[in-house]
Amino acid sequence: MLLALTCAALAAGPVETEAREILDQLLRVDASHGNETAALRPLLARFQRAGVQAQILESAPGRGNLVARVRGSGARRPLLLLAHVDVVPVEGQPWSVPPFQPTEKDGYLYARGVSDDKAMASAFAAIALEAARSQPKLGRDLIVALTAGEETGGLAGARWLAQNHRDLIDAELALNEGGALIVKPDLSRMESVQIGVAEKIFQSYGLSVKGKGGHSSVPPTDFDPVVTLSRALQRIGELRFPAKVLPESREGIALMARREKPPLSTALERAAQTGTVSPEDDAVIGKDRLANAQVRTTCVTTMLKAAPQDNVLPTTAEATVNCRILPGETREQTQARLAQAIADPSVEVKPLEDIGFAKPSPISGPVNEAVHAAARALWGEVAVSHSMGTGATDSRHLREIGIQSYGLGGAPGTQEDQRAGRAAHGADERRPIRWMGEGVRFLREVTLQLAR
Ligand SMILES: [Zn+2]
Repeated sequence: MLLALTCAALAAGPVETEAREILDQLLRVDASHGNETAALRPLLARFQRAGVQAQILESAPGRGNLVARVRGSGARRPLLLLAHVDVVPVEGQPWSVPPFQPTEKDGYLYARGVSDDKAMASAFAAIALEAARSQPKLGRDLIVALTAGEETGGLAGARWLAQNHRDLIDAELALNEGGALIVKPDLSRMESVQIGVAEKIFQSYGLSVKGKGGHSSVPPTDFDPVVTLSRALQRIGELRFPAKVLPESREGIALMARREKPPLSTALERAAQTGTVSPEDDAVIGKDRLANAQVRTTCVTTMLKAAPQDNVLPTTAEATVNCRILPGETREQTQARLAQAIADPSVEVKPLEDIGFAKPSPISGPVNEAVHAAARALWGEVAVSHSMGTGATDSRHLREIGIQSYGLGGAPGTQEDQRAGRAAHGADERRPIRWMGEGVRFLREVTLQLAR
């Protein structure tokens, strides 16, 4: 198999070509403010031409979700391939190319969504189309779900499907975004493969302090809600949650250690080896944004609000604090910890919308084995590790209804682009063209290993 794959890797096969065609179509539709149906309609026609049972389900006008099913023998429960086709907006970003037009420049493909998450969406579609046209049948149904609104919490997409059309997407296992394929800065070879098995819980809290209001020419002399709120926010800014190394994040921390320089690399390496963070190491890790977010729950103030006009005293001073909670800790514990740090009963702390959370997927098992096998077959001795995402993906909506969901990388990219903001959510989002076919082949191998 290794030999066959190496030969196949020399030339772009039909599946890579079709994935690129679909990708170009998807990239040309701006789905940053809804409009997913328009992006998905040509793809629906493609599935129907191939004789695949497919439909677009709208959670609201224009908010389409494409669900297609390639029938297998039914020997095992289905495999769900899920990717979102909405993207984050480009307004205010300094793009050097038109963001909603695929542009090839200096060996890279530029466009909004090329890394997040349209490359994966087009790869899954092409892989399913190839399976539909091939014999023999796979051992499981392949379900492709291309969803709306992931960037705004999945309410228009994955969560809506999970709650309203569970029968259509129900599966034993799911593959989704949330992992990574990292190539060397000079694009010479694959550096690491990451499998997302866990995510932090996204939870915002509203803080409010009531005041009496009135004319700002006669300010309060006893109790000022803005000053009280400011004091509370300062305490939250200084609050440090305990540092932990979870089984799901241990390999990711080790990988981070290999990329960093001392003293951070040494501290991370020790944390990964021992499974704990000493106060000395925490002093180093706690200063690095990425490393800090891997080892602890974080809370940060993101929004502020007081009076509606400059000469009016506020009747309420409000703040929004966004927390990212480590798996194993709860929303209630985090709220209690915030209230304890604030230590002022005049500051009310309330949880805002619950956008969903589920337990991590098991580290070992068929997806782990399939990813190791695919990575080895394609790239030989490459580091494969598990990771915990500090952000949230649609996987939580799947895990919540009992589908073991795993995060993979779709289009390979460099760590440098990530840092420079030329990847997910940034201006000039791009991916190296010569690696895009490798990404498709990787997802194809993993899918076939799991569904054969
Ligand atoms: Zn995404």
